[in-house]
Amino acid sequence: MLYGIISDIHANLEALGAALGALGSRGVEQILCVGDFVGYGPDPNACVDRLKPRLAASVAGNHDLAITGRLDMSWFNDDARRALKWTARRLRGDIYSYLESLPPRVEYESLLLAHGSPRDPGEEYLLDPYSARSNFRFQKFRLCFVGHAHVPIVFTLDPAGRLDMDEPAPGSRLKLLPGNRYLINVGSVGQPRDGDPRAAWGIYDSDRETVGFYRTPYPVEVTQEKMRGFNLPAALIERLKTGF
Ligand code: ZN
Repeated sequence: MLYGIISDIHANLEALGAALGALGSRGVEQILCVGDFVGYGPDPNACVDRLKPRLAASVAGNHDLAITGRLDMSWFNDDARRALKWTARRLRGDIYSYLESLPPRVEYESLLLAHGSPRDPGEEYLLDPYSARSNFRFQKFRLCFVGHAHVPIVFTLDPAGRLDMDEPAPGSRLKLLPGNRYLINVGSVGQPRDGDPRAAWGIYDSDRETVGFYRTPYPVEVTQEKMRGFNLPAALIERLKTGF
C-alpha cells in the first residue's frame, strides 16, 4: 500500500494542489494528514474542501486546535495570531466542525500520527535528539509521522538504543529496518522552513518498507498575491518565497 503523507498545509491552495497532483501521479492509494490545515495562508475553507474527501486519517495541528478554541492563541507570535484571527472570521461553520472533530493524535493501522510529537501534539517541536528520545520512551510505536517543525527530519532508534538524526534530501528514500523505530517529519506543504520553498510531502510504501521525501514547485507568487489582497502579515508573505 502507498500512503501519501502531508502536513502543515496552512491554507495554501496552490501548494496543496501541486502536492496532491504529484501524489496522484505516483499512484498513492491513501492520504494521511499530520495537521495544520489552516493558519498563515489565504484559502482555509478551500483547502479543507479539497483535502477532506481524500483523507484516510488526519489529526489537528496547533493552528487547527487554536482556531477551534482548544489551544490558547497567546502561544502564537503576533503574525501567526493575526493570521489566525483573520482565518477565524472567514471559516465556514462546517469547516470549523470538521477541524473541531480532529483528534490531536491518532493510531491508524500500524502508524501513529501526531502533529508536534506523541507526548505533546499541540506544542512540542521535534528538532533535536533529546526530545525525540523522550518521545520514543513516552509511547510504544514503530513508525510515527509528525509535522509542526516544517522541515523534513528523521529520528531513528535502533534496538541497541542508539539514536540517529538525519535531514533527508529531496528525492531520497529511507529504508525502514526491522527492529528500528522511527519518528519522521516529511516537511510542510504550504510553508516550508528549510530554505526550499517547494511544497514538501512524502510517501510511505508499506510493501517495500520505505519512506520517500519529495518536493514539488508551485506558483508561490499566486499565493503571495492573494495574501497581499487580504492584508495578511508581510513576513508571512515573504517567507513563502525564501522557504524560511
Ligand atoms: Zn504548522
